[in-house]
Amino acid sequence: MYNVQEIRADFPILSRKINGKPLVYLDNGASAQKPQVVIDAVNRAYAEEYSNVHRGLHTLSNISTEKYEGVRSTIARFLNAGSEDHIVMNSGTTEGINMVAYSWAMPRFEKGDEIVLSAMEHHANIVPWHFLRERQGAVLKWVDIADDGSLDAQSVIDAIGPKTKLVAITQTSNVLGTVVDVKAICRAAHEKGVPVLVDGSQGSVHMPVDLQDIDCDFYAITGHKLYGPSGSGAIYIKPERMAEMRPFLGGGDMIKEVHRDQIIYNDPPMKFEAGTPGIVQQIGLGVALEYLMDIGMDQIAAHEASLRDYARQKFEGLNWLQVQGMSEDKAAIFSFTLAGAAHPHDISTILDKKGIAVRAGHHCAGPLMDHLGVTATCRASFGMYNTLEEVDKLVDGLELCRDLLG
Ligand code: PLP
Repeated sequence: MYNVQEIRADFPILSRKINGKPLVYLDNGASAQKPQVVIDAVNRAYAEEYSNVHRGLHTLSNISTEKYEGVRSTIARFLNAGSEDHIVMNSGTTEGINMVAYSWAMPRFEKGDEIVLSAMEHHANIVPWHFLRERQGAVLKWVDIADDGSLDAQSVIDAIGPKTKLVAITQTSNVLGTVVDVKAICRAAHEKGVPVLVDGSQGSVHMPVDLQDIDCDFYAITGHKLYGPSGSGAIYIKPERMAEMRPFLGGGDMIKEVHRDQIIYNDPPMKFEAGTPGIVQQIGLGVALEYLMDIGMDQIAAHEASLRDYARQKFEGLNWLQVQGMSEDKAAIFSFTLAGAAHPHDISTILDKKGIAVRAGHHCAGPLMDHLGVTATCRASFGMYNTLEEVDKLVDGLELCRDLLG
């Protein structure tokens, strides 16, 4: 039985006050709070176990290496990735997608080759492809969303043509919460011989992920949204694709031998992890993922679905609130504006006075803002520890905004 109060007690920050009011943290889409077990693991790693990983022969280096490498298999288990050898650890989704752009895409893209993207991608899954457009003449092929914010998998599949070299698509929109049927896209793209990169930065937080079932070629996650430390993360890469990739960054750890006129690369996935990694961050991420798996991602998804349904029903009764994207299959992420001229920044500032943290801005989704015809929205993004009462507090706060700004 999911006990949200017990879960809340695991997150020390949730008991603090902001501006004299109990914190209502609804900015999980940007970054999630950390449970005590993660904070303790990070402290312990620095206080008792810290040293650099790999190559060391002394006790602390062995402990650090064992813990750090153990996280690779935790990530593989969390994603049902089949093997830890398919996991490259990194600082998060931005690094993961850039790596795919530099190491896999750049050597194989020719002028006119296409990347299929949805109109609701995060800049992390847009800008690396713009680099390919600017530098190599790649063509970005955009697939629009429907009026309700949903993305029809068939419209993505239909956009795949003879020049398409990659589909790069989010599993869940960080602005609208829209969930995409990435499995159907992968199946159809593979029939056409096209690999698929899935941005799992939001999807992995809100639902159980089974990569062997989805069968994508690349799947990027980001640790700080998964209740782990910032600067942690990973990308799953199918072995066939890994074999096609040239190294990304050069330096220590990614090589076996270096001579004046020759280098021999390490075996994958180490071949793609140059330099000292985020040792403690990754150790913290491993503990965060174990914490999530202990509770159960299906349980977390069910709890968040109840928050989504409750918030949806409340918002539908507010005719002065314009919610963007109310598709059936969505995570508990709501973007909205107030009818009239109220700027999302003003709404966010008023809510903050009530202890409610939401984000206001373009949410790193420029093409989506263009599509919606707005420059910014307010976003309330819920997580595993939010409650129905916090939905009510948000609605009360929005009513105050309407009275003050409307
Ligand atoms: N993709 C999506 C859908 C996101 O929401 C984010 C972060 O907001 C990112 C990518 C980038 O993640 P990071 O900043 O952790 O690299």
